[in-house]
Amino acid sequence: MPLIVNLRHLEENDVVLRGELPVDELDLDTRDEMIRVTQPLRHELEVQLLDDSLLIRGSLRLVLECQCVRCLNPFKHELVLDPWACHLPLEGEEKVVIVNDCADLTPYVREDMLLELPRHPLCKPDCRGLNKNKPDKAQNTGGKDESIPSPWAELDKLKL
Ligand SMILES: [Zn+2]
Repeated sequence: MPLIVNLRHLEENDVVLRGELPVDELDLDTRDEMIRVTQPLRHELEVQLLDDSLLIRGSLRLVLECQCVRCLNPFKHELVLDPWACHLPLEGEEKVVIVNDCADLTPYVREDMLLELPRHPLCKPDCRGLNKNKPDKAQNTGGKDESIPSPWAELDKLKL
C-alpha cells in the first residue's frame, strides 16, 4: 500500500491513509550498519486539502533492528512519530510533485524518519558494554578491547 494521495479525492473529502509501507518502498538508508530496517512502516494519516497546500497529520511507527554500540547485542527499537505532521505546498519552488493527480508522501516520511534515527544505538541508556559484563573471560572469548594495549603503554615501551 503506497503512501499516495489523490488530489481529486481530496477535493471532495479528507483522505485517511492507514496501513503499512513495505521496506522496499520506504527504502530507508540508515547509513549505519548498527541499524537495519526489516519491518514495514505503519502509518495512520489524515490528509487535508487547504487553499494551496496539503496538510498531513497522524502517526508513523517503525521497528528498527539495532545492534548496541557498546555490548554488540541485538535489540529492537521502535521509532514513533506521534503526532507527525507535514505541510506540503502545491505552488512555488518547494511544491510537491503531482503525477496523474497524485502526490507521493513517501519522500517526506522517509526524510523525517531519517532525522529520528538513533545516532548511537544503545540496548539501554546505561549499558556498560562487553568488558564490564565479562571482566575475566574477555581474553578467552576473543574480547578485543582487553588485549589492545593503551597508546600510553606503547609509548612507555618506546622510551625504554
Ligand atoms: Zn548494550
